[in-house]
Amino acid sequence: MEEDKNLYFQKKILDWFATHHRPLPWKGVRNPYIIWLSEIILQQTTVAQGTAYFEKFRQHYPSVSDLANAPSDDVMKLWEGLGYYSRARNLHATAKHIATELNGAFPTTYEGILTLKGVGPYTAAAIASFAYDLPHAVVDGNVYRVLSRFFGIETPIDTTEAKHQFAALADAVLDKSRPADFNQAMMDFGATHCTPATPKCVQCPLKTECVAFKEDKVAVLPKKSKKMVRKTRFFNYLVINENDGVYIQKRTEKDIWQDLYEFPMIETDELADILRGGSEFVDFQKLTLVKQSQPYQQLLTHQKIVAVFWEFSTSQADILRGEVFQKIRREDLKNFAFPKIIDIYLKEKVLTLF
Ligand code: SF4
Repeated sequence: MEEDKNLYFQKKILDWFATHHRPLPWKGVRNPYIIWLSEIILQQTTVAQGTAYFEKFRQHYPSVSDLANAPSDDVMKLWEGLGYYSRARNLHATAKHIATELNGAFPTTYEGILTLKGVGPYTAAAIASFAYDLPHAVVDGNVYRVLSRFFGIETPIDTTEAKHQFAALADAVLDKSRPADFNQAMMDFGATHCTPATPKCVQCPLKTECVAFKEDKVAVLPKKSKKMVRKTRFFNYLVINENDGVYIQKRTEKDIWQDLYEFPMIETDELADILRGGSEFVDFQKLTLVKQSQPYQQLLTHQKIVAVFWEFSTSQADILRGEVFQKIRREDLKNFAFPKIIDIYLKEKVLTLF
């Protein structure tokens, strides 16, 4: 009985895929490097946003050795705006690892692919099935949603139990003779048909057997056990204009936005007057405050960043203490990769100058 239901699901998904698959630039590609590139870009990114980045990366770095030989600042600059920057760092580190330690040859087994930095079970299954036709099922948020609704699984998806349960079920329904098609079908069905907020249940070919549809649970499945709490952080950026130069620094700590650039920054516990609090790297007496911006906001998965830009001028030279700061010409700001919140501030600033 259970097997019948699995086979029904498998057949219906593949039938649906035969007429609905989305033509995307990385589909049908067998080159593991290109597949890997597309999968890393699409982690935590929509297809609409990721496609342009995929094309840029494929064009700039057509092979794994091209990517391995690229300067890290160039890779980060090309990634700018896509978010989750650890992906770009891992991409670059892995390309170097493949080029040097593996003689430029991409691993050919699921287990080998899984050892690459930044590659988890989902990406390894995608690469293994698309490049080598290996029978490994992809399991991600889309797959959790589709399986949980169709089979009526109520286990909260953010638990260890669910991880094992869904992995086993995804493996049981996988068509092992066509793993690439089946995985692609699951990805497309979850992304375009059985979507989180507006699934197309009425015209769904699986609806007669779909538990969520039959029991009116589509809106409540999949379930989650915890509510996510976002921590709010307050960043005060010091935009210090010294003649035609401005100071920036690279974020080197293991924190958000590692390896991106920013203005010298003072983090506070709330919106605060930083001029009162003082700073260990600058003497505010030597600066003239020109403008204090309104707070800008950026939402990340687990954090909310509130940033205030404090614009100063000074007639003195080399005003900042510490080697981490670089003084660059203002017109060169465009050559550095910044977090989105700083990009937005800079764009608005340029607009107001005209
Ligand atoms: S009937 Fe609705 S909930 Fe069930 S699989 Fe189809 S789209 Fe998803």
